Amino acid sequence: MAARIGTDEVSNLSPPYQDVDLFGSDTPLREAVGANGAGDDAASLGEFGRHWGSAAMFEWAKLANENPPRLEGEVVEFHPSYHYFMAESVREGLHASTWQPDGTPAAAPAEVARAARFYMVAQVENGHMCPITMTRASVAALAAAPALRGAVLPKIATRQYDPGFRPWTQKSGMTLGMGMTEKQGGTDVRANTTRAERDGDVYRITGHKWFMSAPMCDAFLVLAQADAGLSCFFMPRFRPDGEISALHFQRLKDKLGNRSNASSEVEFDNAYAVLVGGDGQGIRTILPMVQLTRLDCAISSAGMMRAGLAQALHHCRHRSVFQKRLSVQPMMRTVLADMAAEVEGALAAVMRLCRSFDLASSVPSEAARARLLTPAIKYWVCKAAPALVYEAMECLGGNGYVEDFTLARLYREAPVNAIWEGSGNVMGLDVLRAFTRDAEAARATLADLARQAGDLPGAVDAANLIAKTFADGVGEGGARVAVERLAQLVAAAALNAQGRGDVAETFARTRLSGRRGSTYGTGDLAAAEIRSLLARVLPDS
Ligand SMILES: Cc1cc2nc3c(=O)[nH]c(=O)nc-3n(C[C@H](O)[C@H](O)[C@H](O)COP(=O)(O)OP(=O)(O)OC[C@H]3O[C@@H](n4cnc5c(N)ncnc54)[C@H](O)[C@@H]3O)c2cc1C
Repeated sequence: MAARIGTDEVSNLSPPYQDVDLFGSDTPLREAVGANGAGDDAASLGEFGRHWGSAAMFEWAKLANENPPRLEGEVVEFHPSYHYFMAESVREGLHASTWQPDGTPAAAPAEVARAARFYMVAQVENGHMCPITMTRASVAALAAAPALRGAVLPKIATRQYDPGFRPWTQKSGMTLGMGMTEKQGGTDVRANTTRAERDGDVYRITGHKWFMSAPMCDAFLVLAQADAGLSCFFMPRFRPDGEISALHFQRLKDKLGNRSNASSEVEFDNAYAVLVGGDGQGIRTILPMVQLTRLDCAISSAGMMRAGLAQALHHCRHRSVFQKRLSVQPMMRTVLADMAAEVEGALAAVMRLCRSFDLASSVPSEAARARLLTPAIKYWVCKAAPALVYEAMECLGGNGYVEDFTLARLYREAPVNAIWEGSGNVMGLDVLRAFTRDAEAARATLADLARQAGDLPGAVDAANLIAKTFADGVGEGGARVAVERLAQLVAAAALNAQGRGDVAETFARTRLSGRRGSTYGTGDLAAAEIRSLLARVLPDS
């Protein structure tokens, strides 16, 4: 046996980032929750944050991603850790808490309270959030079929995760997925070739879906061509006679990240389904679901950014280079503070958007705001996440690149939210459409944002650029820069409105007025600003 030379005893390694209170340690989150009407939920959010930030949860997350699901004939086998996360998130109501028992939206601050939890979950395990998101969002599409919604909702709302492979009618809880994307097109769903044939009161669906995630959901909302065109269908895994329906999974995708979640390729061979909404009304019917999944993409990307930032700062506070902790070295402090400003902006924008969803049913201007700003915020936040997580990884040096720490996994996860549920350009087209279809409401939202941003640096120029691009019809080619500016204007305005004029000023000066390079740490930040931003990320231990 080789002699041991005693390299096991090492110093200067940062302790694992775990057993943290994901709510209590996060000043911007606590402020955003309070400013958006959910302050009374703080005690319960604290409990949630301590539980999800425990070492055990981080260990479960590692297991869920190291042991990806496998397709076994009709079913997908998951590691117990995946089921554990599903049970935890369902118990907390992340899949259902924003709905009343009759399927109408729950009263404010249901969206903000859920979003705060979703943001924390995204810092721990992301894959299982896919079916959680789709289940909660599906209720919005089921509004077009009230009787079906009335039957399904009690099963969704139980807060019991039932992974059994049985008809949904016999289960103690159910989850729903969605099947829109086909080989020939995901953005252009009108090109779907899957056919729906009428069979009495129901339909038989034949065709394929190229991406259908969480295939162990109990039912799916699926788009297919019926007599009058593209239509939306409720397709359960079992037929009403109790037989397994003809959904044949071809294989599971071998994905870059998101590995705890299964995404399937599937063929339907006369699969049983019922129509949701009108024949030919498929896009209109499923759009409210898509809007909610887009919101969740933005929330979870903001959560991933927070995870990257917190782990980077945690590491830098414990790691010394040249006899000094990284967290006191000026260039590293600038990098971390610049990242902190980005996360503050992303979180403020997302939480203010959730407030709009909370108020949409009673305040028309908030409904208009949600319509216009969901694609803009999804665009900016989901695109910001991979770059921020990459920079966070580099803050850990070589350790960031290996699987012992969680940043490598987070880095693989980060791009997915920008790609699915409307990729970047599609979000740009959506903002353009909102300005075209309801120009008056869009202009009013923009004026409101400009007012809230007040005299923050660059705010007036940003509002002018957005108006010129969208309202005056500069066209698609110029949309990206204006969409980014729109989301950043929301962030600055939200920070200002929630009483953080100091952070809003930093954010606006470094983002809206353009005095920043293309990477983190190139913003022009004063020492006092840096100190204040970093103190807000994590309490100094
Ligand atoms: C992990 C994962 C899970 C998924 N799960 C599901 C699921 O459960 N159900 C489901 O239905 N789908 C799912 N999808 C599919 C996803 O929603 C689609 O991949 C996405 O909508 C893009 O469609 P596409 O891949 O066909 O790309 P395309 O539509 O071909 O788009 C390619 C690129 O072109 C851009 N583009 C499109 N139109 C324009 C235009 N007019 N001008 C400029 N640029 C444009 C897009 O922004 C995109 O960047 C999943 C995808 C992934 C990666």
